[in-house]
Amino acid sequence: MTDKLFGTTGVRKVYGKEFDLEMALNLGKALGTYVKSGTVIIARDARTTGLMVADTLAAGIMSTGVNVVRGGIIPTPSLAFATMKHGFKTGLMVTASHNPPEYTGVKFWSGSSMGYTPAEEKKLEEIYETKKFNVASWDASGKETVLENIVNDHIDEILEKCDTELIRTKSFRVIVDPGNGAACVLTPYLMQRLNCEVVTINGQLDGQFPGRPSEPEEETLGDLIRMTEKTGAALGIAHDGDADRVVFVTEKGEVIRGDRTIALLAQQALKNSKEKTVVTTVDSSLVLDKTVEKSGGKIIRTPVGDIQVAIKVEETRGVIGGEACGVFIFPEIHLAPEPFLATCKILELMAQSGKSFGELIAQIPQYPLLKSKLNCPNDKKQAVMDSLATTLPGKMKDTVEVLTVDGLGISLKQGWVLVRPSGTEPVIRITCESPDEDITKQILQTAEDAVKTTIDAV
Ligand code: MG
Repeated sequence: MTDKLFGTTGVRKVYGKEFDLEMALNLGKALGTYVKSGTVIIARDARTTGLMVADTLAAGIMSTGVNVVRGGIIPTPSLAFATMKHGFKTGLMVTASHNPPEYTGVKFWSGSSMGYTPAEEKKLEEIYETKKFNVASWDASGKETVLENIVNDHIDEILEKCDTELIRTKSFRVIVDPGNGAACVLTPYLMQRLNCEVVTINGQLDGQFPGRPSEPEEETLGDLIRMTEKTGAALGIAHDGDADRVVFVTEKGEVIRGDRTIALLAQQALKNSKEKTVVTTVDSSLVLDKTVEKSGGKIIRTPVGDIQVAIKVEETRGVIGGEACGVFIFPEIHLAPEPFLATCKILELMAQSGKSFGELIAQIPQYPLLKSKLNCPNDKKQAVMDSLATTLPGKMKDTVEVLTVDGLGISLKQGWVLVRPSGTEPVIRITCESPDEDITKQILQTAEDAVKTTIDAV
């Protein structure tokens, strides 16, 4: 088990196969050595291995003389919020996000509520690899305490940022699907505080994820779709395992892609702010650019990953940031993903306009977006990408601009295509979009052929 510890965001590994408690212990020691002194908070999602991993990390940290505060099972955004609010040196979230139940992992948060940047992770990884850990004597080891009430504090803060009174007058019926994940302890209670009539499905914490796979997508949300449509609910709300993502379902049972929801919320945010920047990742729809431009704002694109979005939101004083997979960042509260405030803002918009969520989102057009993935061994990926960088722009029709912010992005006269090696699987992913279905299919076909030929040739 000596494979590289850190992936694109923190650590995410199969427990028992790629990650064990010895690694957790050393990771705890490395983190304690990195932060040197003060207090680190540790929380976790509901995974079956979470308590063991969190206990072991805590032991490692305390062995370096750094104190530990335990936050229990809470959503990742609540952990980030508590880290900032109480001024802890670092927040550790034991989670593998939306991955299957056999995975475990750790996400790192700094006192600014932002995830560890790649540079910070690199420093931590160096300490982990060299094993030069601080060692505290028996009378100088760290102490452990428990922090309760994190979720209620977080809920109070969220309610300050929306028109609670107005939403309460509407008594919206909402269906909440936390997918047996960490949102079980927050979203239903937040909705109650907004005087919603709340029905929860997959609402008990369970690290086996018995209700549905943890990633909230159209294919996994059948129960929520049916419940929302059949019971006349105003909104369906689905989260992933650590509740840093949210996906919404309309009253008609339609699952809405995250980039359209960002566009809707960005429109509103731009109306109320003198700042004009909206930040999203390279794989978001063109619809977002069009909507934001129409509202007098401008889009900045970053590599994939919520930390990349947060870094740019902070740097450019963005009004809102997000990812198409269901990440929303509101700098007015903190720099971590904030799916709960996103939910409140949608209810607020519905209450203000008197329109349903389906009617509101209908103002944001939907362009055909197609995805494909091709098998490619990990050790070939770099050579394939290098070769494509020189050949693909010439093979696509009407190339306008080539972007290399993350993978190979090519903007075309009529759309765009993005080719990226996966950070976690031996595949190369292709995403493309244009306002027309046939053109999108042609773009995908051309790109697929080129990538296939390159993989075979390299
Ligand atoms: Mg997640």
